[in-house]
Amino acid sequence: PLKKVHMLDRLLRESASIALSGSNLQCSFEFPDNLWPALIDEGQMQQVVLHLVRNAREAMPDGGIITISAENVRIAKDENPALKEGAYVKWSVEDRGRGIPEEHRSRIFDPYFTTKSLGDIKGRGLGLAICHSIIKKHEGLISYSTEIGKGTRFTVFIPASIEEK
Ligand code: ADP
Ligand code: MG
Repeated sequence: PLKKVHMLDRLLRESASIALSGSNLQCSFEFPDNLWPALIDEGQMQQVVLHLVRNAREAMPDGGIITISAENVRIAKDENPALKEGAYVKWSVEDRGRGIPEEHRSRIFDPYFTTKSLGDIKGRGLGLAICHSIIKKHEGLISYSTEIGKGTRFTVFIPASIEEK
C-alpha cells in the first residue's frame, strides 16, 4: 500500500542499521533537514535499502565506510530520458568496495545473476532484480556508477509528493 512518508531519512537510517548489524562497517549519513515526502510502500522501500546495503557490505569484506545520502531534486523536461519532469527524492548508497567489472554490468539487474558462490551469505542473484521492480512500480529510477577497486554507488529517484505550482 502506498502511503505518504515524511521521514524517508528515518527509513534509510533504520533499514541500513538492520542491514549492517554485526558488521565491522561504519555508516555515514548525509541528509538535508527538509527532505521532501514521497508516496511509497514502506515495506517495499525498506527491502530496497536492505538489498543495496547488504550488497555494499558484501563488497567490503574488510570493513570501511558506507555513505548513505539523500537530497531533494527537480528534474526538468527531457533532462533525464528515464524520468518525467518533476520533484524527486534522490538517495544513494555508496561503498568503497571492489567495484563491478565491465563484463558484469549489463547483467546485474537480471534475476538470478550473481557472482557470489552458493552457500555464500545470500547469493541468489535476486536483490537487484527486486529493487528494480519495486522502484519501477514507484515510477522512479535506479542506476549506479562504479569504478574497479574504488567502489560503487547505487542511486534511486522516487517521485516526491509535494504541491507543484
Ligand atoms: P546477489 O547479491 O545475491 O549476488 P544481487 O542482485 O543483489 O544478487 O546482485 C547481483 C550482482 O551484482 C552481485 O552478485 C555482484 O556481482 C553485483 N553487485 C551488486 N552490488 C554490488 C556492489 N555494491 N559492489 C560490487 N558488486 C555488486
Ligand atoms: Mg544482493
